[in-house]
Amino acid sequence: ISFAHFGFDEALLDVIIKHGYSEPTGIQKQAVPVALSGRDIIGIAKTGSGKTAAFIWPMLIHIMDQEELSKGEGPIGLILAPTRELASQIFIEAKKFAKAYGLRVAAVYGGASKMDQFKELKPGGIEILVGTPGRLIDMVKMKATNFRRVSFLVLDEADRMFDLGFALLFSATFPKKVESLAREVTAEPVRISI
Ligand code: AMP
Repeated sequence: ISFAHFGFDEALLDVIIKHGYSEPTGIQKQAVPVALSGRDIIGIAKTGSGKTAAFIWPMLIHIMDQEELSKGEGPIGLILAPTRELASQIFIEAKKFAKAYGLRVAAVYGGASKMDQFKELKPGGIEILVGTPGRLIDMVKMKATNFRRVSFLVLDEADRMFDLGFALLFSATFPKKVESLAREVTAEPVRISI
């Protein structure tokens, strides 16, 4: 399976090639077609496997399929991450590819100015939001954003989020208890393990 098999358009293929990716990784080969079909996924893959792009690419395509893209200011794609380090890595990876379609990405996490993050979200809105759970809740309470438009949700590193009291989907390790919880928050998920 090559990138061409995913049916990506020229704009996205160009950016992928420009970043030096010559072929999809294992998790990408397995997860991208399933995500593009609209199914929920419980993905188990290690850091470094290319798991971020595996959910970012289908998210971008899902967003471009929305008819009401211009309306509203909250994100359509929402990614929850357990730590600010992971949130900022996802942010960097998402920005690389969102460029293909001129989509806007923001990241919010603790340890940085709430006011700056508020200003980042508020004015024109964004299509993709990455954040740690606590700061995302702060931003909603401050009315910097809302989740009314969210229709593509990713819970990265589910096991670590579970520690924080959250249920998740993409994870490097996946204990039994987390898996049963993940099954509760997903609809007939496809389980992919690399
Ligand atoms: P991740 O597992 O998402 O943290 O990705 C690990 C690293 O692999 C990141 O630096 C990505 O930019 C890179 N990467 C993701 N997909 C590919 C690919 N298909 N080919 C080469 N590098 C990739």
